[in-house]
Amino acid sequence: MKAVLVDEQTKKLSIGEYENTVLGEGELRVSVKATAINRADLLQKLGQYPPPEGASPILGLEMAGMIKEVGPSVKGWEPGDRICALLPGGGYAEEVVIPAEMAIRIPERFSYEEAAAIPEVFLTAYLNLFVLGGLKQGQNVLIHAGASGVGTAAIQLVREAGAKSIVTAGSQDKLDFCAKLGADYGINYRTDSFSDKVKEYTNGNGVNLILDFVGASYYERNLESVSKDGKIIFIGTMGGGKIEGFNIMQLMMKRISLIGSTLRSQSQDQKIELTKKFTDFSLALFEEGRLKPIIDSVWDIHEVNEAHDKMQNNLNKGKIVLRMDF
Ligand code: NAP
Repeated sequence: MKAVLVDEQTKKLSIGEYENTVLGEGELRVSVKATAINRADLLQKLGQYPPPEGASPILGLEMAGMIKEVGPSVKGWEPGDRICALLPGGGYAEEVVIPAEMAIRIPERFSYEEAAAIPEVFLTAYLNLFVLGGLKQGQNVLIHAGASGVGTAAIQLVREAGAKSIVTAGSQDKLDFCAKLGADYGINYRTDSFSDKVKEYTNGNGVNLILDFVGASYYERNLESVSKDGKIIFIGTMGGGKIEGFNIMQLMMKRISLIGSTLRSQSQDQKIELTKKFTDFSLALFEEGRLKPIIDSVWDIHEVNEAHDKMQNNLNKGKIVLRMDF
């Protein structure tokens, strides 16, 4: 099959040939129609984020496509069905083989491009807000990088849960975009101290939960922004991964929980359970149009290097999608 390969010298991407996967018990062979870019792809091609054991070395953590072949003992799916799914890797290719239990039926109103923009960011946001974060109606959450793929999914899920979101972003344009999705309050981190603004907005109480993609450079200000008994969930390290002067006492006095989380490292069973919980919560909301994939732009697979550059330069609002027209 055709797939996107990484040149080990230049780190540029190009289309080449890769072996097809054998279809096993309980699995589906899917013709990939669209995939979407994630920050992890930018790191993986540089050798900084190796795929988990047993996963395809091809980039791509999600896809939308049409079932080509159904493996033994699979029930409920047929060739021709439109599905999307989270992947441990392998999405930048003509086809993938996935466990049937990971498949999400694509709501009729969505194209393949729209459906490809759902799995990674919505499942990440759902896992961290509700499963790990325990977010409840009436609580508030600080979402850093509000206009990112994960941020735009999180804002919508928080809105649907009846909680309030405060977002940070690096421009007014991005903050306006977040407000349209339902963010309750926006802070431009380039012009304001986000911890001062959070304190002001929450009358000094702080937020119940912080979804943090930035890490070390935000750590002190996150401690100032979180409420007593609050949680900080580390999901990315765009601002560094090592915290200098870590002080346990600061956590103890406010009874703060620090949680680290990656979706990709979860076991297959955990991902299946998460996919089920998420579809129970969200499928009707997608069908009604209350939740929607947020697409920055759609690129032809032959333009994959330019599409990666756009994310690398922090120019996207929502997801960058690749159409698989090899
Ligand atoms: P994205 O769409 O590429 O957006 C990232 C945005 O973050 C940038 O556009 C930029 O927006 C902001 N940013 C970049 N560097 C920053 C810095 N040093 N300080 C503050 N803001 C910065 O990203 P994504 O694909 O949604 O991913 C968002 C984060 O979640 C990434 O770190 C990714 O690795 C992580 N992630 C984690 C998991 C997991 O399971 N743990 C799963 C998916 C994604 P501004 O212009 O506003 O600065």
